[in-house]
Amino acid sequence: MDKERRVTFFTRRFLVGRAGPFPRLVFREDVMLHLDQFAHLHNKGEHGGFLVGKVRELKSSERYEVLVERFIPVTQMEGAVRLVLAEADVRALGRALKQRQEGEVIVGWAHTHPGFGVFLSDFDKEQHQRLFPEPWQIAYVMDTQAQERAAYVAADDQWQRLEGYYILKEMAENEIVLPAAQAGRRWGRLAALAVVFVLIAGALVWGYNWAMDFVKPPEEPPPVVETAVKPPVVVNGGSSQPVEKEEEPPQSQGQAPAVEEIETETRSGEYIVQSGDNLWIIAEKLWGDPRLFPYIVIENDLEDPSYLPVGKVLLIPELPRN
Ligand SMILES: [Zn+2]
Repeated sequence: MDKERRVTFFTRRFLVGRAGPFPRLVFREDVMLHLDQFAHLHNKGEHGGFLVGKVRELKSSERYEVLVERFIPVTQMEGAVRLVLAEADVRALGRALKQRQEGEVIVGWAHTHPGFGVFLSDFDKEQHQRLFPEPWQIAYVMDTQAQERAAYVAADDQWQRLEGYYILKEMAENEIVLPAAQAGRRWGRLAALAVVFVLIAGALVWGYNWAMDFVKPPEEPPPVVETAVKPPVVVNGGSSQPVEKEEEPPQSQGQAPAVEEIETETRSGEYIVQSGDNLWIIAEKLWGDPRLFPYIVIENDLEDPSYLPVGKVLLIPELPRN
């Protein structure tokens, strides 16, 4: 029957209160209703029973998700002052669940505190630690008069009141969803897509810049030397100071024509900005690779690389070799 339900229904989680520290507590909606109904019917003295469900261990061994699937009330005298659970009942229920082989265990217990607030008495605490010693087993307390509910866990004598819990609501697949809600969901999905897109684009741009900044320059120099588009740096050095540039002679031969295209009045290591120039174009002219423009920016301490008046003299750095 359960399996059949899973085919035709889907579930949704609703958080009540705050998502707090673990364990993560999840009530099936019908269990929550059952508990509330039970609490309303027994509005004098303490009443309660067992909580049965499943425990899933999350990534770390100390983190659990507890799914409460059933509430099994314990018969109690009307007006009983406190809920006393028998150890024999705990064992019998445990055995029965094991035999059913559906992975269900006793995930804790629940009881009412009609009109006297939500807390655990010393008796409650003692009973819990004796019968429900697992760190994921919960003590659930309801006070319908005060409209209060709370779940507690104890680990190594440390009591913790959970800040919230989830309600697992089963919804029919053909359940009518209001258009507004649908649209909202669609927009939410679109927004999520947009965020993913921005992240991917950011990663691409970042990755590209990273590649340009750190990967490309070291790789580039060889091609720069080969294509011999390095005239301004070498031009005059090639002709007037050949001694200093030991490695240059073979390159300067092939550069003669290129030199004239650029600017005859440049001195060694200088470039005069031409009309229509920008740093990319200059880097292209100088080294055959526009992506090397940051070397010009750094060498000239350009605060605004987009401001390049015609006639400005730029210092041209030596590119790092290797
Ligand atoms: Zn109590």
